[in-house]
Amino acid sequence: MAEIQTKKKGRILTGDRPTGKLHLGHYVGSLINRVRLQDEYDTFLIIADVQALTTNFEEPEKLARDVREVALDYLAAGIDPEKSTIFVQSLVPEIAELTIFYSMIITVNTLRHNPTIKSEAAQRGYTDMTYGFLGYPVSQAADITFCKANLVPVGEDQLPHIELTRKLVRRFNSLYGPVLVEPEALVGEVPRLVGLDGAAKMSKSLDNAINLSDPPEEVERRVKNAVTDPARIRATDPGHPDICTVFAYHTAFNKPVIPEIEESCKKGAIGCVACKKRLTATLNELLEPMRERRARYEANPKLVDEILLAGTARARAVAKETMAQVREAMKINYF
Ligand code: ATP
Ligand code: MG
Repeated sequence: MAEIQTKKKGRILTGDRPTGKLHLGHYVGSLINRVRLQDEYDTFLIIADVQALTTNFEEPEKLARDVREVALDYLAAGIDPEKSTIFVQSLVPEIAELTIFYSMIITVNTLRHNPTIKSEAAQRGYTDMTYGFLGYPVSQAADITFCKANLVPVGEDQLPHIELTRKLVRRFNSLYGPVLVEPEALVGEVPRLVGLDGAAKMSKSLDNAINLSDPPEEVERRVKNAVTDPARIRATDPGHPDICTVFAYHTAFNKPVIPEIEESCKKGAIGCVACKKRLTATLNELLEPMRERRARYEANPKLVDEILLAGTARARAVAKETMAQVREAMKINYF
């Protein structure tokens, strides 16, 4: 892998849990910004396998497949391994070490009051939660800060975690000296893409997603089943685009058609079937180049492994440097 240029605006760190295939929500929420910014920023993409265990600890054997799946999704979406560093969290043990140090300077109540932790715990039906789940924002702070990232492209649900990272950085720096960098969040143009059910955000765990790897027929099938305006029975009934999932997707993926579709829907001039056909065509046009890139990498799994190993080696070198500074600042470099 070519030596990555360092003359950039700054550093990006973001990533995903390997808990399944990435979907359109990931694309508009975060991936699209990563692809766009990888020329300007030194970009680190973490495949957070330890964080995946915070909810999926019963089936660790799935990780090997899911780590590669996420890597393929990145490469298919247009992440260029010559420009961006893709790495595996558990293979950078310095992140775990930094997490432990941070856990000394954050209180349990701060974590308990984190709104994303609360809503995810409720969604998963947790009456109690593991230490690892409660503390995953602390581990995320270590992910972001080990490489001194300035910018974190994420979906809206992640904002409380970035805020917590900023607090930890300020606390650490005021206690031990100016070692860490305070990052900023960058939320995508569509901060929270709704799922096909029209109820929750599009999510890997809720079976309400269109995956970046879905073939054209699957996209068509899923769009057909998407929830629209329930009050609209006949194609000529006036529709309510503001509560329609399909209209939300037109808005996210094909801006130029918004006024026209909005007007014809409200007048009952375009029916849901026709509207869905247009959406399917738009989505398949977006996904087609991803399918081509994916096929090339899928045919060469050894290359994907090499990309992950090279990226992890680079991340680890950066992590070792930061940890030396952290230990020195904390005065736990005894010898
Ligand atoms: P899981 O259900 O396993 O939690 P997920 O689909 O919520 O998976 P994450 O891995 O938790 O995905 O999220 C990875 C990144 O993608 C985060 O920055 C998150 O904010 C963003 N993201 C996920 N879903 C959406 C969505 N529907 N709209 C916008 N951004 C999203
Ligand atoms: Mg999630």
